[in-house]
Amino acid sequence: MMDKKINYGSLRMKAGLELHQQLDTTRKLFCNCSTGMKERLPTATITRKLHPVASELGMVDIAAQFEYLRDRSFHYQIFNNETCLVELDEEPPHHLNSEALEIALQIALLLNCEVPNEIFVMRKTVIDGSNTSGFQRTVIVGINGHISYKGKRIPITQVTLEEDAAAIVGEENGKATYRLNRLGVPLVEIDTGILEGYSPMELQDIAYQIGILARSTSKTKHGLGSIRQDVNVSIRNGPRTEVKGVQELGLLSKIVEFEVQRQMKEKPKEETRAANLDGTTRFLRPLPGANRMYPETDIPPVIIVKEYIENLKKNLPEPWTNKLERFKAKLRLPDGLAREILGSEYLSLFEKIVSTKKVEPTIVANAFTSVMKDLERREKIEITRISEYRFVEIFDCLQNKEITKEAIPEIIKYLAAYPQNGVGDALKELDLKPLTTADVREITKEIVSQPNIKFEKAYGIVMSKVRGKIDAQEVMKIVKSMMK
Ligand SMILES: [Zn+2]
Repeated sequence: MMDKKINYGSLRMKAGLELHQQLDTTRKLFCNCSTGMKERLPTATITRKLHPVASELGMVDIAAQFEYLRDRSFHYQIFNNETCLVELDEEPPHHLNSEALEIALQIALLLNCEVPNEIFVMRKTVIDGSNTSGFQRTVIVGINGHISYKGKRIPITQVTLEEDAAAIVGEENGKATYRLNRLGVPLVEIDTGILEGYSPMELQDIAYQIGILARSTSKTKHGLGSIRQDVNVSIRNGPRTEVKGVQELGLLSKIVEFEVQRQMKEKPKEETRAANLDGTTRFLRPLPGANRMYPETDIPPVIIVKEYIENLKKNLPEPWTNKLERFKAKLRLPDGLAREILGSEYLSLFEKIVSTKKVEPTIVANAFTSVMKDLERREKIEITRISEYRFVEIFDCLQNKEITKEAIPEIIKYLAAYPQNGVGDALKELDLKPLTTADVREITKEIVSQPNIKFEKAYGIVMSKVRGKIDAQEVMKIVKSMMK
């Protein structure tokens, strides 16, 4: 059981957040490979051994050495269209992807950062095998930013654009296998300053706000692993531990709580830990030292022209923090639903429908979130088979009162089964013409006249005859009133 009485203030809990968001560009950061990560089967696997080298600054990094001591061999899976000689470290990197740079700069501006006049590509030592070269390329695109949270200023120390690492597939007997298709996918890292005086739940909410600001560009990837959080925690000015790879944002507060409890019980060490699925953490490696960065000599610096930044500033997308507030205030969506639709791949379709049709936004948002998830889980239907304009058609019918909102799940189910058919066909075949209260009274009259029938039973029978054609609350009212 979790101790709810922890006083984080008196423990002087300090935390820092590091958020990583993959960008949805066509090409990778330093080569022309696709960022799709759609290929399932590798075309080949190559084997390597990695050796840490003293960086230009002298010392061999202790974290790097630690990984080296583990003496592993690395196996890299290669994918068609998604891997080339750059990922294999057999060819120098191409120039920095300008599409990725522009999105990263927009994110930096949305986080109120100062943008440097010149962009330098740096190398960061990474020797766990997730980069074939033994380093990760990274560029600072913004510093000294901030966001507001409950009237307070949350410092954003820096925003960097970097190459994502290869994803680990598995590790056995010192053999680690990685998928190279993720290596080089553009990734934006956002770091906060030290946050003190916030509860674990508030830290989670701050991470959420930063995440949706990054996604305001609409050029970010969706789905598991596309956004990853690291959080570092210390109490009583003690050593700082870093928990890496939190993929589920809802776990962040739990991880912070567990980490504080762990540090209260045992003497904390400066180390990097990995997040477990239940919110607990496990030791990964010592914290990396300071000598991790050195210049990338293969790529020339990029000059950032002032007019270009002024133009980006003028044309920034609406911050999703505003959009969230607008959905709640103007569209009257409850907080949870507003957040859900914001995270949905149907966001733009939702916005299009509620701005052009006279329909209740809550009904539309529900259809694109819980109704669809439910249908996918229980009925195993493939929503992706339905074209966008079919959804527009559904809400046209709802606006024109040709259907009730109860008919929506049945229609979606039908359209997924017969993608070539339209909503009109669904209405004909499913007999979903709305019923009036008079119609329902007629049906109910016969059923409640049966001797000794109980309300639940009568309601059940009526519903089985009218489901999808009238509001269930309405049916309940009618059956109740007619049983008196
Ligand atoms: Zn490539």
